[in-house]
Amino acid sequence: MCIYPKTTAKLPVNFKNKRILKRLKIDQIEKSNKSEEAFKRLVRTIKYSTIKLMSLIIDWLFPRRCFGCGKGDKYLCNLCEEKLKNGALVRKDQFEGIISIYKYDGLIKKIVEKMKYEFVSDSINELAKLMDKKLKLNYPNIVEYWQKEKFVLMAIPLYKHRKNWRGFNQSEILAEKLADALNLKCKNNILFRNIETINQATIKNRQKRQKNIENVFAINSKEAITKKIILVDDVVTSGATMTAALKILKGSGVEFLWGLSLCGVLK
Ligand SMILES: [Zn+2]
Repeated sequence: MCIYPKTTAKLPVNFKNKRILKRLKIDQIEKSNKSEEAFKRLVRTIKYSTIKLMSLIIDWLFPRRCFGCGKGDKYLCNLCEEKLKNGALVRKDQFEGIISIYKYDGLIKKIVEKMKYEFVSDSINELAKLMDKKLKLNYPNIVEYWQKEKFVLMAIPLYKHRKNWRGFNQSEILAEKLADALNLKCKNNILFRNIETINQATIKNRQKRQKNIENVFAINSKEAITKKIILVDDVVTSGATMTAALKILKGSGVEFLWGLSLCGVLK
């Protein structure tokens, strides 16, 4: 297909050259954008293939068993899943709402521990599927609203050393898997954690929790900011981490903010 208009032949030589150069420049930029996208796709494919391969090896070495009863071939069998207590939807600060799918209690507490500290990253896929199922079941109108308004999911980031040590951020994987299931976009590059903090779950005092998390987040890329965001975390206890992220995001132009967690204690 000819990319230059036929009229080019009648134009002065210099003008023609300028147009050709401009077109060549645009072609080059388009090509480099395309190759950058292809490279990112390749990195993503390698990342997920590696995770898949690792989980296949882990499955072979340690066959999958239910975290609750030790039976079956899933991390959470249907019987144990039914025993989990429902979480809640709460209004807090300037959040449109914070949804915790399950109550942070009993078995789910054990599951989160396993997921975080025993490196059972593959269990996150199952948990994301459960979250998707429960969201559509318990909050269909909210899911519909998120889809209609094109909300973007974003995980609460981990401090980079902690992420490197663990090899993954469970909330990032949850956000990515959930975004796929809900047919929404996921952007985990907006926010980063610039200070390492003590694990919020280990601090009992509410004020100390707030102090621990203040000013730990910073914006990574202002261009990536969208006006409608769903913040995803695995556990929400006092909500201090979510509120700290809210402050910086609201100050950077985010207008509508939801919180979403696998489990929590807010009510
Ligand atoms: Zn079970």
